[in-house]
Amino acid sequence: MTNNKAEPIEEEAPADKPASAEVRNKDFVELLTEKLSWQTIRDVMTYDVNRPLMEKTTGDLADLALQRSWITREQYDELRNSDDDVTESLGQSMMERGLITQEQLTKAKSVMERTGQPLWRTLLQLKMTLPADVVQFLKSDIELPFGKRPRPVLCRYLVDEGICSEEQLDAAWREAKAQKIEFGRYLKENSMVSDEVLERGAALELGLPFDDLADVDEISTHLLRMIPSGVLLRFTALPYKVEAEQLFVAFSDPRHMEEMTKLGLMLKMPMQPVLAPRARLEELLERLVSVDTFKSAYTQDSETKEDESPAANMLTIILRGLINAEGSDIHIEPSLDSARVRYRVDGILHDFLTLDTDMARRVSARIKGLAGMEIEQRFMPQDGHLNLRIDDADRNFRIATVPSMYGETIAMRLVQSEMAFSSFQQLGMLENQRQLMTEMLNSPSGLVLTAGPVGSGKTTTLYSCLNCLECFNQNIMTIEDPVEFELSGVTQVQVQNKRGLTFSAGVRALLRQDADTLMIGEIRDEETVQIAIRAALSGTLVLSTIHANSATGAVASLMQLGVTGFSAGNALSGVVFQRLVHRICKNCREPYEADAMERKELEVEGDEPITLYRSRGCDSCFRTGYHGRIGVYEMVKIDEEMRHVIFSRPTHSELQAAATRAGMIPLKAHVRELVISGDINIKEMLHII
Ligand SMILES: [Zn+2]
Repeated sequence: MTNNKAEPIEEEAPADKPASAEVRNKDFVELLTEKLSWQTIRDVMTYDVNRPLMEKTTGDLADLALQRSWITREQYDELRNSDDDVTESLGQSMMERGLITQEQLTKAKSVMERTGQPLWRTLLQLKMTLPADVVQFLKSDIELPFGKRPRPVLCRYLVDEGICSEEQLDAAWREAKAQKIEFGRYLKENSMVSDEVLERGAALELGLPFDDLADVDEISTHLLRMIPSGVLLRFTALPYKVEAEQLFVAFSDPRHMEEMTKLGLMLKMPMQPVLAPRARLEELLERLVSVDTFKSAYTQDSETKEDESPAANMLTIILRGLINAEGSDIHIEPSLDSARVRYRVDGILHDFLTLDTDMARRVSARIKGLAGMEIEQRFMPQDGHLNLRIDDADRNFRIATVPSMYGETIAMRLVQSEMAFSSFQQLGMLENQRQLMTEMLNSPSGLVLTAGPVGSGKTTTLYSCLNCLECFNQNIMTIEDPVEFELSGVTQVQVQNKRGLTFSAGVRALLRQDADTLMIGEIRDEETVQIAIRAALSGTLVLSTIHANSATGAVASLMQLGVTGFSAGNALSGVVFQRLVHRICKNCREPYEADAMERKELEVEGDEPITLYRSRGCDSCFRTGYHGRIGVYEMVKIDEEMRHVIFSRPTHSELQAAATRAGMIPLKAHVRELVISGDINIKEMLHII
């Protein structure tokens, strides 16, 4: 990232100009570290890294579809051999849906000619469309040249109702295919079915109720305001009644089902989506919902109730959505003429909402105001905290803003203040791993390290260690940046670099306080590591995290920070290396028999069949096929022999051999167990090993 790029385009607020000049003259990282905590910088810099879904969709769409079992091998081959058909109908039907313009399509096609990339990838690269849209087309919208007649549920309905015969449908399908027209549209255009018949058929396909909305006349403003008007107009959707404590929301385009699912997360009460005739919906929307009526409704209210301004309402909706989706972060990212709101759920970012620029600005200003940040300051990064009551629960967010090309990017992380400390078992440790952990912690002094990449749950593991120590240890102290969870009975110190309270200064101060157990948030510099080692050698149990790619790699990392083999060997009690893997969605997983390749990967002998699981994605897992994450671990307790090997500053393979002899439980063994037990799929295993 260069300084020029980081400079936002802002016309108004001339008072900020000097600051922007200052931005230009400074190194970006320097600028960040001056204003923000390390944790915040890491959040901001890594939030885009962990995106397996995106990575795959921009990889190869057909491969993805095959992997996810959306299409069969036969269909895959057919698709592979018919790129042109797909391109033509994809572009055409995306244009018809208003997702891209004719201009964009023309531009994309000219780029395609130069690059030779398929259309869908070009559209993604030019940021003209979202991966989700393309995937959805592949799944349902374009009728791929698969020979087989599509939409079996609709067809059965048409035949059962006596609307069409099998023969008519077959003929219609052949003709639609030849003309490259979507099947449903062909039926309609050739007057074989009415709009309403198609709509009822779509409701059957989705398993949703159908309502012609004939009885709906007036809808209370209270109901209408439960969903932002922009969303209603964009999806032609209308909340129209509450029954059995459910909000009934009518919509007309079956392709918006996924958006409806997301919308459901943002409401205070459960939502029942209902399909309704488009014409009737449009009529009602035009009469009842316009941007103007909403504005006036809000203005009236905002005079009396400050908290119900549109921005406040939108912020509540966004925050509630995150909590209902069990997500961890919110990102508000401005672009040229809108801003997207994304949630991170189980480490994967999902697009949730698009705000217009004006609303995005107001929401940002509100967040900054509530978090005690300078609202007018849009050119310098800031961080802050936000405490809000959402649906009767207090929620705590850590906020960071960073100037970007089109305004300010805001990252919000939900701080789990009431986190029930996970036991080792809840963290996913196996019986023998839990036992090893307890042994490492039982020693009154020494250094226990957890290692892993950013976002692998190292700190959570340390907290669980502290929690399990509490009962038999008296003086526990921590130095952290930032303090993530509050622990009762533990003295926690927050690093404050600006005031000179660095990790190393903090550790020194805490040792003077006679700590029995000391947790150091992270070892990342020579000074801290030296004090940590000294403390561990002189009778303190020291717990910390270090960046490394394996358990033995953590030992090597210590030495790279200048620790002698002798000190490292004597101080270390044990190392835990960990990763987080995506748990398969139990709602949509399905068993299958492992093939020869998979058996080989799993190192299975003999010819007993093995059942593995894969998932195709469903509404409850946002179509990812995954739900939640689980830790996988590689652990080694340093024994006498390994200690002596470390003294000699060993090579990687010598260290690895010593760890194996010391009984190291390798990561692969743990992951393999999870594949066999059906908790994760085999792709996830190959991904991390
Ligand atoms: Zn699922």
